[in-house]
Amino acid sequence: MAKTMKEKRVRCPRCNGAMVFERFQDMLELFYAWRCLNCGEIMDPVVARNREPERKPKKKAVGE
Ligand SMILES: [Zn+2]
Repeated sequence: MAKTMKEKRVRCPRCNGAMVFERFQDMLELFYAWRCLNCGEIMDPVVARNREPERKPKKKAVGE
């Protein structure tokens, strides 16, 4: 088996350091995001997924 899914590591886009999945608390809600142990960069998985240049940074529920 050549699958390496077991050890899935996320690296920081900035410094390529190791990231940990942590729980954060916003003013409104709780959410999970990746935090870099090295530089402290926080990468919200939702934001990372919707990373498009022409998108407005507005928090809106995307239906479909
Ligand atoms: Zn980093």
